[in-house]
Amino acid sequence: MSEHIVPPPTPDIPIIGTDVRFPVHRIYCIGRNYAEHAKEMGMQADRTEPTFFMKPADTIVTGDADVPYPPATHNLHHEVEMIVALARGGRDIPVADALGCVYAYGVGLDLTRRDLQAAAIAKGNPWDTAKGFDASAPVSALCRARQIGHPEQARLVLEVNGQMRQDGDIADMIFNVAKIIHHLSKLWLLTPGDLIFTGTPAGVGALQRGDRMRAELAGVGILHTRII
Ligand code: MN
Repeated sequence: MSEHIVPPPTPDIPIIGTDVRFPVHRIYCIGRNYAEHAKEMGMQADRTEPTFFMKPADTIVTGDADVPYPPATHNLHHEVEMIVALARGGRDIPVADALGCVYAYGVGLDLTRRDLQAAAIAKGNPWDTAKGFDASAPVSALCRARQIGHPEQARLVLEVNGQMRQDGDIADMIFNVAKIIHHLSKLWLLTPGDLIFTGTPAGVGALQRGDRMRAELAGVGILHTRII
């Protein structure tokens, strides 16, 4: 019997206007990056040290595919976020150089098993089961910075079944993209292929099977998905 194990494919994301796809290396996420969202979670935003966590690369869902309701939760939440795709990396990247690492932007959903997250926070446990489950990271196609520049201000919205649930602006991020990259690069070696979820504005809430979502970062990307 062969002992050869076929490696799983590298997860990748379509890039608008090209035939090539963005190969995902790691997914870094920042928590509590909008003051109003931190408040609705009963926390205060920390403006000095960002809160980071990760999702496995193969949690992405592309092509507006459906998302199966995950196991082990009764409180699946949506978090609409701007996503940032890196073309370059490094360690200890100065804030002034950080945007030079960015290849593209898009919009994504940081799906969260909120009940498991609340239990983890109460026990002082890690967030992996709450954040890093299968299909927990639906993402739009990516829009290259060479085409749109580096947006500092853009409306970020999520509609569920045609009703507005989240309506924010990336201008309200506590740590902007350059600062996020700077802080991440002090903790990890960033590389081409890294993807960053930049935090969610207020209005997070529960999803049910059958819910249809439409997420948009104005001028950057649109994502449709459905919970099945
Ligand atoms: Mn989030």
